[in-house]
Amino acid sequence: MDIQLNKTERGILEKIATAAQEMRVETYLIGGFVRDKLIGRNTKDADIVCVGDGIELAHRAAAAFHPLPTVSFFKNYGTAHFRVQQFDVEFVGARKESYQQYSRNPQVSVGTLEDDQLRRDFTINALAISLNAENYGTLIDPFGGIEDLQKKMIRTPSDPDITFSDDPLRMMRAIRFAAQLHFDIAPETFEAIARNHERIKIISQERITDELNKIILSKKPSIGFDLLFRCGLLPHFFPQMQELSGAAYIDGKGHKDNFYHTLQVLDNVAYRSNDLWLRWAAILHDIGKPATKRFEQGHGWTFHGHEVVGERMVPKIFRQLKLPQQDNMKYVAKLVALHLRPISLSKEEVTDSAMRRLLFDAGEHIDDLMQLCESDITSKNKTKVRRFLDNFEYVRRRLIEVEEKDRIRNWHPPIDGSIIMQTFGLAPCREVGIIKTAVREAILDGIIPNEYDAAYAFMLTTAAAIGLTPKTVSE
Ligand code: ATP
Ligand code: MG
Repeated sequence: MDIQLNKTERGILEKIATAAQEMRVETYLIGGFVRDKLIGRNTKDADIVCVGDGIELAHRAAAAFHPLPTVSFFKNYGTAHFRVQQFDVEFVGARKESYQQYSRNPQVSVGTLEDDQLRRDFTINALAISLNAENYGTLIDPFGGIEDLQKKMIRTPSDPDITFSDDPLRMMRAIRFAAQLHFDIAPETFEAIARNHERIKIISQERITDELNKIILSKKPSIGFDLLFRCGLLPHFFPQMQELSGAAYIDGKGHKDNFYHTLQVLDNVAYRSNDLWLRWAAILHDIGKPATKRFEQGHGWTFHGHEVVGERMVPKIFRQLKLPQQDNMKYVAKLVALHLRPISLSKEEVTDSAMRRLLFDAGEHIDDLMQLCESDITSKNKTKVRRFLDNFEYVRRRLIEVEEKDRIRNWHPPIDGSIIMQTFGLAPCREVGIIKTAVREAILDGIIPNEYDAAYAFMLTTAAAIGLTPKTVSE
């Protein structure tokens, strides 16, 4: 395994090395940068550890760059950071850590390089490269990090029970690295996670969700979720997803395991799109199934209305996971609500108005919805899969035709609330909503054309039916 540095990286590291020599402190590259370079993964940040004052080293190194980068630092933690040439450099003085039971903030004392390597979470994250003149570029690997990189193995450098109990966020990190790098977690490390999962309670939801989103953004997110499920971490922060697992049997009839079905849909979406929120829609598309599950005699298992129940669950789950409440949440809720609609449109006799209605309801998210639906096909029967995909292909073609004709996608009906209020001299009230909806529905159903005059006439008729007459304009 070899390290390839580009010119920018070499330039930055040489300046840091020179500053360290002037200060006469031992200095090393450490952590994620070393790991990622060894496995040929892109990286835009580097961690530097020195046996001395990391903040002072950061200031001295920064002074060698033009223009001078801003150094931000935390005296309490002894860490500093600056950004040069789109590269983030973190500095820390080598340290030893000891933990108390109810906090992930350790007591810190000055330590050697080896102490500092030992406090790192995994052997593959504890590799260091010397930036000192006498052995510049030498790899220092006291805990078998290279061997673990070769074996594609995540393992803690010290007793895993202590490592995870000290800082339980490391359990999430282990699974995140397994998902991102496609590595295995060593059996004794995984067993320790399974023994210590309760400890995750002392970690803030923001940090957990940060790791969860990194898992979701990995190439094959099912790997991470499967590990979260098997080690017992998942129900602590996402019980609704845990609930999807398992299959009930009545009269010898079972239903599919919705947890594994969801993971397959998620992988399918991940294969098609890197968008975090579309991936969240895949995770949540069937989240309403456990609450709607029924066994109907002579019929089997049903989940009627699971898309509506699921849509309603989305805001609470986003709140619980400290995910954004605004646009992203609404987008996910909308896709969950609509995820069955394209299936019902795949029959020949479906009318244009049903197509228009879906275009109106999905708006600009129609393509994402179609991607979600195509990903939702998880049958093992190849003929069935082909047939379902052909059906969706047909729906896509019809949607394009209808959209070209009627331009519904980002459409606003020609009669809006303010026209209604003006015409009938109304303040905002229920009647305004009734008339507005009636006009919109009439256009979507093809009862009247999508034109101002027709809509205006329809508004007058609808209003008359509920006893409203236009306000006469006084002279
Ligand atoms: P990435 O940048 O891809 O998230 P990374 O390994 O660089 O991966 P960082 O969070 O940037 O992760 O941390 C840098 C280094 O600091 C890690 O490689 C590891 O050595 C150490 N580290 C980070 N978090 C912890 C932790 N919770 N416990 C122990 N060591 C940690
Ligand atoms: Mg990093």
